[in-house]
This record gives sequence, C-alpha cells and structure tokens, in this order.
Amino acid sequence: MKAGHEQKSLCEYNTNKELIVRLKHGADLIQSITELARNRGIEAGSFTAIGALQRARLGYYDQKNHEYREIKIDSPHEMASCVGNISLKDGEPFVHAHAVLADETGGTRGGHLSGGIVFAAEVHLRQLEGPRLEREYDEATGLSLWDVE
Ligand code: ZN
Repeated sequence: MKAGHEQKSLCEYNTNKELIVRLKHGADLIQSITELARNRGIEAGSFTAIGALQRARLGYYDQKNHEYREIKIDSPHEMASCVGNISLKDGEPFVHAHAVLADETGGTRGGHLSGGIVFAAEVHLRQLEGPRLEREYDEATGLSLWDVE
C-alpha cells in the first residue's frame, strides 16, 4: 500500500431515482428490499429505513474465525436506525444492511441485519447509476466485498 494508506477503491455514481417505500406488515425486510431491487433492476443503491420490527436476527462478524455469530431478537423492537446498500453478488442484487434496534427501555442492540420481520417500515432508497458494483470474495476478511479498484 502507498504512503498515507490512500486506497484507490472508489467509484463515481449518479443518483438515478429516489424511491420511498412502505414495506408490508409481516414481510422480511431484507427479502422485501432484495425483491424490490430485482423487480426494478436496481444494481447499485443505498437506503435508510426506520420503523419497527416484530423480531430480527442480527449478526456479529467474528474477525478471527471469519464467521458470523447470530444474535436472535425475539421480541418487538423499534428500528431506531437501519442503513444499507445494494450491489451485485453472483450477478444478482444483494442487500447489505445494518441496524440499531431499541427495546421498551430504549436499550439498543445492533449489528449486521440478517433478517427482520416488519411491523412497520419506511424505506428511502437511492438508486445509483454508474459502474457495475459487484461483490467478490476477499481473502483478508473472508467476506464478499465490493470489487472496486
Ligand atoms: Zn454487515
């Protein structure tokens, strides 16, 4: 790596469309956004979502063993924050999301959002136009990361 640790891993995109979506009660948030991306041909994008989940599965990535540990959230929580992006994995739209979930005391748990059953969810999705954004296996992390050079 060059001096200053400057990486050239950057791509430029233009915003194509901004979508406002209300997800269905009882649907899975990740699946719903993946389907939306597939149906509308969205290959690159970013989104935020707020609302509430009936239950969820969070992930914590074990950096030493290169595997996700599952954190089960089996009770209703506020989706205090959810941010994510859409790119391509094996040529298909792939949703990557993280969430901070709050319980009745306001206490929070957070992490990689593997799945979440929607109580109510408002999504603001930004569709991006630009170079193909594909994920590729990364040796150092064991994750599928953006292949941007
Ligand atoms: Zn993640």
